[in-house]
Amino acid sequence: MTRIGVLSVQGDVREHLQALESAGAEAIRVRRPEEVERIDALVIPGGESTVMDKLVRAFGLFEPLRERLAQGMPAYGSCAGMIMLADRIEDGRADQQTLGGLDITVRRNAFGRQVDSFEEDLHIRALGPQPLRAVFIRAPWVEHVGASVEVLARVETGPAAGRIVAVRQGPLLATSFHPEVTGDHRVHAYFIDVVRRG
Ligand code: GLN
Repeated sequence: MTRIGVLSVQGDVREHLQALESAGAEAIRVRRPEEVERIDALVIPGGESTVMDKLVRAFGLFEPLRERLAQGMPAYGSCAGMIMLADRIEDGRADQQTLGGLDITVRRNAFGRQVDSFEEDLHIRALGPQPLRAVFIRAPWVEHVGASVEVLARVETGPAAGRIVAVRQGPLLATSFHPEVTGDHRVHAYFIDVVRRG
């Protein structure tokens, strides 16, 4: 069975564990370096990327995770997790680092302070014809994508229409929104498919 680790230093870990199990994978918490060896793929939850970055380094996870990602381990990052996977950040903290791998530039808290959170139905071809309810909470958007990055979804209405909010680059997947909180597990199922098909 495919064993997917959920980075468990901070953020909404439990929701991702449940979504992965519902979508048919074995899901385990990753909090210690030796656990990084035991997983086929990684999910990085939403939370606060500046805190997650500090804790990942404090727990000795930064190097092992970077190494496995560099070797091609599949990973999915949601919101703060998207920031953790991005090669470049705008509006990050001065000393903020990322695990990297995704050739994108993300803008933290991109939707502005007034727009703390909002929801929208997104049409994402990779997930089928049914729209997906996307929940955005102090979300980043993708400011720039490299040539090998596929854009999976953009905001469809309002002042941010057209902004990129879901991307894939080979085994790496990231969304600005939180599919783990809606009960619709198609994003997790899609990721599990990416992991199994390679
Ligand atoms: N604003 C947060 C950050 O910069 C992300 C918010 C979230 O994950 N819901 O990390």
